[in-house]
Amino acid sequence: MRNHKILTIGECMVEMAPREDGAYTRNFAGDSFNTAWYLRHLLPESDQVGYCSAVGTDGLSTSMLSFMEAAGITTQAVRRIPERTVGLYMIELSNGERSFSYWRGESAAKLLAQDRSFLDAAVMDQDLILFSGITLAILSEQHRQQLLDVLAAARVRGTTIAFDPNMRLRLWPDRQTMCDAVMQAARVADVVLPSFDEDGLNYGDASPQATIERYRAVGAGCVVVKNGPERLHAFSQQEGSVVFDPVPVETVVDTTAAGDSFNAGFLSARLHGAAMADALAKGASVSAQVIKSRGALVSVSI
Ligand code: ADP
Repeated sequence: MRNHKILTIGECMVEMAPREDGAYTRNFAGDSFNTAWYLRHLLPESDQVGYCSAVGTDGLSTSMLSFMEAAGITTQAVRRIPERTVGLYMIELSNGERSFSYWRGESAAKLLAQDRSFLDAAVMDQDLILFSGITLAILSEQHRQQLLDVLAAARVRGTTIAFDPNMRLRLWPDRQTMCDAVMQAARVADVVLPSFDEDGLNYGDASPQATIERYRAVGAGCVVVKNGPERLHAFSQQEGSVVFDPVPVETVVDTTAAGDSFNAGFLSARLHGAAMADALAKGASVSAQVIKSRGALVSVSI
């Protein structure tokens, strides 16, 4: 079997999660990193999974890189920037409801697309690259364009580009800027993995089918519209429209990383030649396991 090289690009953060005894547990998480972590679990050892980002040179940044390496994720594509550190978020539990506070304004990851030659080297010879709307949101306009140029060039060389719009309005100056940037990114993507609750809200799509059509119109050959417990709607050039109904999860504990782990399940299956219906089933099965436990990174059985 041919070995594959997969890279995801974005920001991994320090997560401080409350424990029952009032103390906090330190974890590492972030949408594109979560997907890398699940891909590493799901793919055979012979496939390489790497992460592309930027961190500082301080102890916390080094601990994050050690965590990635220990998980089997390569970190050659993580730049180290001495005057910066990693972003952090804290989870607060109040009457069972989770709320999040972020410290990421000056995080190193905001500079991940600063160095064109570093990016060019990072994306070289990859079979699959995934990035997201959060990856774009943290970059300056100039760096965002630079990243999209590098990905467009990689696509021309044969790399499959996957993009999850992951629309987080509070990370953007306004909705229009976010919507425009997401469509610009979709233009360099082969596979787009939106969530209907976000895309319906932000673009006014009347149905998951309308979401598919909007991304097809800018050149995506494969679109998968996630919709929580509802039916998955997908399209691929080879197989046309395909739908899949996730098996309902009775007791949802924590939906963190539902979409990120779905992406990993779906992409790992497609990378190894699965038909759309089987890849959707794999994504749904992985995310169904993830939402039954607390936290972003949950051990799943394949
Ligand atoms: P996101 O986290 O990006 O908003 P979704 O909430 O749409 O993503 O969930 C991603 C996937 O997780 C869904 O397509 C589905 O397969 C699975 N999922 C989410 N919620 C449930 C649920 N209550 N029951 C079963 N599967 C679910």
